[in-house]
Amino acid sequence: MYLKSLTLKGFKSFADRTHMVFDPGLTVVVGPNGSGKSNVSDAILWVLGEQSAKQLRGQAMEDVIFSGSSARSAVGVAEVTLVLDNSDHTLPIDFTEVGITRRMYRSGESEYLINGAPSRLMDVQDILHDSGLGKDTHSIISQGKLDSILSSRPEERRALIEEAADISKHRRRKERSQRKLNSMDENLARAKVLSREIA
Ligand code: ATP
Repeated sequence: MYLKSLTLKGFKSFADRTHMVFDPGLTVVVGPNGSGKSNVSDAILWVLGEQSAKQLRGQAMEDVIFSGSSARSAVGVAEVTLVLDNSDHTLPIDFTEVGITRRMYRSGESEYLINGAPSRLMDVQDILHDSGLGKDTHSIISQGKLDSILSSRPEERRALIEEAADISKHRRRKERSQRKLNSMDENLARAKVLSREIA
Protein backbone atom coordinates (compact mmCIF):
# COMPACT_ATOMS: atom_id res chain seq x y z
CA MET A 1 0.00 0.00 0.00
CA TYR A 2 1.27 3.48 -0.74
CA LEU A 3 -0.04 7.00 -1.07
CA LYS A 4 -0.79 7.58 -4.77
CA SER A 5 -2.25 11.05 -4.78
CA LEU A 6 -3.66 13.86 -2.75
CA THR A 7 -6.13 16.45 -4.01
CA LEU A 8 -6.92 19.58 -2.04
CA LYS A 9 -9.53 22.22 -2.76
CA GLY A 10 -10.41 25.03 -0.39
CA PHE A 11 -8.23 23.44 2.28
CA LYS A 12 -6.16 25.96 4.28
CA SER A 13 -3.87 27.85 1.87
CA PHE A 14 -4.94 25.66 -1.11
CA ALA A 15 -7.86 27.70 -2.43
CA ASP A 16 -7.70 26.20 -5.93
CA ARG A 17 -7.83 22.52 -6.74
CA THR A 18 -4.31 21.16 -6.26
CA HIS A 19 -3.53 17.60 -7.32
CA MET A 20 -0.32 15.91 -6.14
CA VAL A 21 0.81 12.55 -7.48
CA PHE A 22 3.25 10.42 -5.47
CA ASP A 23 5.39 7.48 -6.55
CA PRO A 24 6.27 4.56 -4.29
CA GLY A 25 9.29 5.35 -2.13
CA LEU A 26 10.40 8.56 -0.56
CA THR A 27 8.89 11.94 -1.43
CA VAL A 28 10.23 15.22 -0.10
CA VAL A 29 8.13 18.38 -0.16
CA VAL A 30 10.25 21.53 -0.19
CA GLY A 31 9.30 25.18 -0.22
CA PRO A 32 9.85 28.52 1.50
CA ASN A 33 8.54 29.19 5.00
CA GLY A 34 4.78 29.60 5.04
CA SER A 35 4.31 28.13 1.57
CA GLY A 36 2.00 25.36 2.80
CA LYS A 37 4.21 22.27 3.37
CA SER A 38 2.69 21.53 6.78
CA ASN A 39 -0.77 22.19 5.36
CA VAL A 40 -0.18 19.18 3.10
CA SER A 41 0.45 16.89 6.06
CA ASP A 42 -2.51 18.52 7.89
CA ALA A 43 -4.64 17.59 4.87
CA ILE A 44 -3.55 13.94 5.15
CA LEU A 45 -4.38 13.88 8.86
CA TRP A 46 -7.72 15.59 8.26
CA VAL A 47 -8.91 13.32 5.45
CA LEU A 48 -8.03 10.30 7.57
CA GLY A 49 -10.55 11.51 10.17
CA GLU A 50 -8.67 13.80 12.56
CA GLN A 51 -11.22 15.36 14.92
CA SER A 52 -9.01 17.73 16.86
CA ALA A 53 -8.56 21.24 15.45
CA LYS A 54 -5.49 21.61 17.67
CA GLN A 55 -3.78 18.67 15.97
CA LEU A 56 -4.39 20.53 12.72
CA ARG A 57 -2.81 23.67 14.17
CA GLY A 58 -6.11 25.55 14.37
CA GLN A 59 -8.52 26.87 17.00
CA ALA A 60 -11.69 25.44 15.47
CA MET A 61 -12.28 22.83 12.77
CA GLU A 62 -13.59 25.59 10.49
CA ASP A 63 -10.01 26.94 10.30
CA VAL A 64 -9.23 24.26 7.70
CA ILE A 65 -11.45 26.09 5.17
CA PHE A 66 -9.60 28.65 3.01
CA SER A 67 -10.30 31.94 4.78
CA GLY A 68 -9.31 34.28 1.96
CA SER A 69 -6.21 36.24 1.04
CA SER A 70 -5.39 39.66 -0.36
CA ALA A 71 -5.96 38.21 -3.84
CA ARG A 72 -9.18 36.26 -3.32
CA SER A 73 -12.13 35.79 -1.05
CA ALA A 74 -12.86 32.96 1.34
CA VAL A 75 -14.54 29.77 0.16
CA GLY A 76 -17.38 27.86 1.78
CA VAL A 77 -16.12 24.31 1.60
CA ALA A 78 -12.86 22.43 2.10
CA GLU A 79 -12.33 19.12 0.36
CA VAL A 80 -9.44 16.66 0.44
CA THR A 81 -9.18 13.35 -1.41
CA LEU A 82 -6.43 10.87 -0.68
CA VAL A 83 -5.90 7.88 -2.96
CA LEU A 84 -4.09 4.80 -1.69
CA ASP A 85 -2.76 2.01 -3.86
CA ASN A 86 -4.25 -1.13 -2.35
CA SER A 87 -3.06 -3.71 -4.89
CA ASP A 88 -1.43 -5.64 -2.01
CA HIS A 89 -4.82 -5.59 -0.19
CA THR A 90 -3.41 -4.10 3.00
CA LEU A 91 -6.76 -2.40 3.44
CA PRO A 92 -9.67 -4.80 3.97
CA ILE A 93 -11.67 -3.56 0.99
CA ASP A 94 -12.10 -5.21 -2.36
CA PHE A 95 -10.54 -2.43 -4.45
CA THR A 96 -6.99 -2.08 -5.74
CA GLU A 97 -7.28 1.67 -5.31
CA VAL A 98 -9.01 3.33 -2.37
CA GLY A 99 -10.02 6.98 -2.48
CA ILE A 100 -11.05 8.63 0.76
CA THR A 101 -12.68 12.07 0.59
CA ARG A 102 -13.60 14.41 3.41
CA ARG A 103 -15.62 17.55 2.83
CA MET A 104 -16.51 20.25 5.31
CA TYR A 105 -18.85 23.21 4.90
CA ARG A 106 -18.74 26.46 6.88
CA SER A 107 -22.06 25.43 8.46
CA GLY A 108 -20.04 22.72 10.22
CA GLU A 109 -21.58 19.96 8.13
CA SER A 110 -19.05 17.29 7.24
CA GLU A 111 -19.11 14.30 4.93
CA TYR A 112 -16.89 11.37 4.00
CA LEU A 113 -16.79 9.35 0.80
CA ILE A 114 -15.02 6.07 0.14
CA ASN A 115 -14.43 5.54 -3.57
CA GLY A 116 -17.16 8.07 -4.20
CA ALA A 117 -19.77 6.41 -1.98
CA PRO A 118 -21.12 8.42 0.99
CA SER A 119 -19.66 6.90 4.15
CA ARG A 120 -19.33 7.53 7.85
CA LEU A 121 -16.21 8.43 9.80
CA MET A 122 -16.55 5.00 11.37
CA ASP A 123 -16.28 3.35 7.92
CA VAL A 124 -13.07 5.25 7.22
CA GLN A 125 -11.69 4.27 10.62
CA ASP A 126 -12.67 0.62 10.04
CA ILE A 127 -10.79 0.53 6.75
CA LEU A 128 -7.69 2.13 8.23
CA HIS A 129 -7.72 0.02 11.38
CA ASP A 130 -4.68 -2.27 11.40
CA SER A 131 -3.13 -0.54 8.38
CA GLY A 132 -0.75 1.60 10.42
CA LEU A 133 -2.30 4.70 8.91
CA GLY A 134 -5.09 5.47 11.33
CA LYS A 135 -5.21 7.90 14.18
CA ASP A 136 -2.62 7.41 16.95
CA THR A 137 -0.36 5.26 14.80
CA HIS A 138 2.30 7.97 14.61
CA SER A 139 2.47 7.74 10.85
CA ILE A 140 2.53 11.54 10.87
CA ILE A 141 4.98 13.23 13.20
CA SER A 142 4.56 16.99 13.36
CA GLN A 143 7.36 19.43 14.19
CA GLY A 144 6.09 20.05 17.74
CA LYS A 145 5.58 16.34 18.34
CA LEU A 146 9.19 15.61 17.51
CA ASP A 147 10.30 17.93 20.32
CA SER A 148 7.91 16.31 22.79
CA ILE A 149 9.13 12.81 21.80
CA LEU A 150 12.75 13.82 22.36
CA SER A 151 11.96 15.26 25.78
CA SER A 152 9.56 12.51 26.90
CA ARG A 153 10.23 10.00 29.69
CA PRO A 154 11.71 6.61 28.65
CA GLU A 155 8.45 4.73 29.33
CA GLU A 156 6.47 7.23 27.22
CA ARG A 157 8.98 6.83 24.41
CA ARG A 158 8.74 3.05 24.72
CA ALA A 159 4.92 3.21 24.41
CA LEU A 160 5.34 5.28 21.27
CA ILE A 161 7.86 2.88 19.73
CA GLU A 162 5.60 -0.07 20.59
CA GLU A 163 2.66 1.66 18.94
CA ALA A 164 4.72 2.43 15.82
CA ALA A 165 6.08 -1.13 15.71
CA ASP A 166 2.52 -2.45 15.93
CA ILE A 167 3.19 -4.25 19.22
CA SER A 168 0.53 -2.45 21.24
CA LYS A 169 -2.14 -3.67 18.80
CA HIS A 170 -1.30 -7.25 19.85
CA ARG A 171 -1.27 -6.24 23.51
CA ARG A 172 -4.76 -4.75 23.14
CA ARG A 173 -5.93 -7.94 21.36
CA LYS A 174 -4.42 -10.07 24.14
CA GLU A 175 -6.26 -8.01 26.78
CA ARG A 176 -9.51 -8.32 24.82
CA SER A 177 -9.07 -12.09 24.52
CA GLN A 178 -8.24 -12.32 28.25
CA ARG A 179 -11.47 -10.46 29.09
CA LYS A 180 -13.44 -12.87 26.87
CA LEU A 181 -11.74 -15.86 28.53
CA ASN A 182 -12.58 -14.50 31.98
CA SER A 183 -16.22 -14.04 31.05
CA MET A 184 -16.24 -17.60 29.57
CA ASP A 185 -14.87 -18.92 32.87
CA GLU A 186 -17.63 -17.12 34.76
CA ASN A 187 -20.28 -18.55 32.40
CA LEU A 188 -18.79 -22.02 32.77
CA ALA A 189 -18.82 -21.77 36.56
CA ARG A 190 -22.45 -20.61 36.45
CA ALA A 191 -23.37 -23.50 34.10
CA LYS A 192 -21.70 -25.99 36.45
CA VAL A 193 -23.71 -24.68 39.43
CA LEU A 194 -26.94 -24.94 37.41
CA SER A 195 -26.13 -28.45 36.22
CA ARG A 196 -25.44 -29.52 39.85
CA GLU A 197 -28.77 -28.03 40.91
CA ILE A 198 -30.59 -29.93 38.15
CA ALA A 199 -28.78 -33.23 38.81
P1 ATP B 1 7.28 26.44 7.64
O1 ATP B 1 8.36 26.04 6.68
O2 ATP B 1 7.52 27.80 8.23
O3 ATP B 1 6.93 25.40 8.66
P2 ATP B 1 5.06 25.70 5.88
O4 ATP B 1 5.52 25.66 4.46
O5 ATP B 1 4.93 24.41 6.58
O6 ATP B 1 5.96 26.72 6.73
P3 ATP B 1 2.29 26.08 6.48
O7 ATP B 1 2.34 26.16 7.96
O8 ATP B 1 1.86 24.78 5.87
O9 ATP B 1 3.69 26.51 5.88
O10 ATP B 1 1.35 27.19 5.86
C1 ATP B 1 1.15 28.39 6.51
C2 ATP B 1 0.33 29.28 5.59
O11 ATP B 1 -0.97 28.73 5.42
C3 ATP B 1 0.15 30.66 6.23
O12 ATP B 1 0.45 31.63 5.24
C4 ATP B 1 -1.31 30.71 6.59
O13 ATP B 1 -1.84 31.99 6.47
C5 ATP B 1 -1.91 29.78 5.55
N1 ATP B 1 -3.20 29.26 6.02
C6 ATP B 1 -3.43 28.40 7.03
N2 ATP B 1 -4.74 28.20 7.18
C7 ATP B 1 -5.37 28.92 6.23
C8 ATP B 1 -6.73 29.15 5.88
N3 ATP B 1 -7.73 28.54 6.51
N4 ATP B 1 -6.99 29.98 4.85
C9 ATP B 1 -6.00 30.59 4.18
N5 ATP B 1 -4.69 30.44 4.46
C10 ATP B 1 -4.37 29.62 5.47
